[in-house]
Order: sequence, then C-alpha cells, then structure tokens
Amino acid sequence: MDSLRSLIYLVPELWRTLFEKIITIAYPDGPLELPENFRGRVRINPDACRGCNACVRDCPAFGLELERKGRDEFRLIHYPAHCIACGQCEDSCRFGAIELTNEFVEPTMGEKPCVEILVERTPAEDE
Ligand code: SF4
Ligand code: SF4
Repeated sequence: MDSLRSLIYLVPELWRTLFEKIITIAYPDGPLELPENFRGRVRINPDACRGCNACVRDCPAFGLELERKGRDEFRLIHYPAHCIACGQCEDSCRFGAIELTNEFVEPTMGEKPCVEILVERTPAEDE
C-alpha cells in the first residue's frame, strides 16, 4: 500500500522533471544574465576621487587600502578577493567616485587580478 502511495506521488514528479522547462541557468556554457540591481565589480571614477579614505575606513571586509605619500600623491587599491560586494564604499563616498556595477566578477586563481589599482594619483596630474 505504501509503495502504491509513493508511486502516486512519484509519477507526476517524474513527469515534471522530464518534460518541464529547465529553470537553472546554463552558465558558463550560456550567457549569464544578471539582474539590474546585482552588486558586482567595483568601479571608480579616478578624477572624482579625493583620497579622503572614507571608503577604506568603512569597508567591513578590508577590501580597500589607501596608500598616501603626500598631499596630492596617493593610490587607492582594491582587493576583489576580500570584497563582499556590500556597497558600503559607494554609500560612504561623498564625491560619488566609487560604485558597484552589475558586472559579474569571475573567480580567479591568479595573483594579479586579486589586486586592482583603482586610483594612482601623482602631483603632476593635478598641475
Ligand atoms: S563593496 Fe563592500 S566589501 Fe567591497 S570594497 Fe566596497 S565596502 Fe568593501
Ligand atoms: S573613492 Fe570616494 S571615499 Fe574613497 S577615497 Fe576616493 S573620494 Fe574618498
């Protein structure tokens, strides 16, 4: 009796599995469509960045670092492997210099993509 009941539940489920449209995505074999509000790659407008350190200070994942050598000389570095795409840096920046795009950040084993120089400001650029 129990096996008959199991069959009654199983057959429609089996039918659905075999003939209904697949709802999982084909990535990486197919295109990856991300929602508009997906929080992905961190982007910067280097000209708008003042090196104020607010994004670095507020990042909860140590995903940003500011190296300052002088008043007009600094580097803003991003560590994508630390980044949790929380969007706090975008909220903290008073100059609208940093934002999260909906661009997917692909996983990597390499060392180089783990460090991104977002801004490299030298005194000569400001003259
Ligand atoms: S998105 Fe969040 S974790 Fe990533 S750099 Fe900005 S503040 Fe840090
Ligand atoms: S991105 Fe914005 S918050 Fe971060 S250092 Fe530049 S100006 Fe300051």
